[in-house]
Formats: sequence, C-alpha cells, structure tokens
Amino acid sequence: MKYIVRTMKAKKNIALVAHDNQKKKLLNWSKKNIQTLEKHSLYATGTTGYLLKETLKQDVICLFSGPMGGDQQLGAKVAEGEIDMLIFFWDPLEQQPHDPDIKALLRIAAVWNIPIACNESSADFLLTSTLFNDEFAHEVPDYDDYLDSRVN
Ligand code: PGA
Repeated sequence: MKYIVRTMKAKKNIALVAHDNQKKKLLNWSKKNIQTLEKHSLYATGTTGYLLKETLKQDVICLFSGPMGGDQQLGAKVAEGEIDMLIFFWDPLEQQPHDPDIKALLRIAAVWNIPIACNESSADFLLTSTLFNDEFAHEVPDYDDYLDSRVN
C-alpha cells in the first residue's frame, strides 16, 4: 500500500458519538471543553447530536441515529476525508444491536489514520495536544494507486 500526505485544516471537523450509557459523560466532557469545541465544526449521530446542540447551543451536523445507520454515515464521511477526528464514547459493558456498524466505523477511522478517542482520558489528551489547533499533515492510503493495483 502506498500512502499520500493529507493535511487537515486548523479548524477541524470533529465527529462525536456516545452510546446511551455514555451520553451524560460526553455531554459533561463537551461542556467542560465548550470553548475549544466552538472553534470547530461538529458532526454527530442523531441522538448524541440533538443532545449536544441543546447542551452547547452550537450548530451540530446531525446524521441518523447510530442504530439506524448513523455510524455508517460517519464512516462514509471519514473515507471521503470530510471527518478529521472521531470522539466515540462507546459502551464497553453493554451489547449494541448495531455492533457491526460500530466496528466498521472504528475500522475505517483506523484505515484513514484519523485521531480517535474512545474514552474521556483519550479525548482530554486529543484536545490538549499541541497538534490540535494547527494544520496537521498525516499519511492516508493512496486510493488512486490502490485502484490501479486492483485493475492493472
Ligand atoms: P445516537 O447513536 O447518537 O443516535 O444514540 C449513537 C450510537 O448508538 O452509535
């Protein structure tokens, strides 16, 4: 696999998702970090996004609810290069009906080498990173080369 460098802007497109038992934690975390988050564009699965909008009084691009396809919508946006970062408070103690979609989102985020935080400590590290507020160059798969290698 060949890679190319993609540069994300200083203003990031941040995806936020929380499973039901984690929603209060994400909302408290987002309130704590409101001054940072308001400088960026936020995306979220349906219910998480609705609650974030109410809490932050900030625009949030709301996709479908997770179990209804929202995780897959986010995954597509990651693959298309629209999402720069994923903050996903998934529930490690409860089964989810859309487990395959959750795995797919985490997988595609790894494929496209975007920063991922799956709990509050990691999210704190992400937001306070010296890399967070600037442009950030990162390697992503060279899709054109991948396609060439498949058809030639
Ligand atoms: P929700 O979806 O924000 O609509 O609750 C999150 C999820 O369960 O993946």
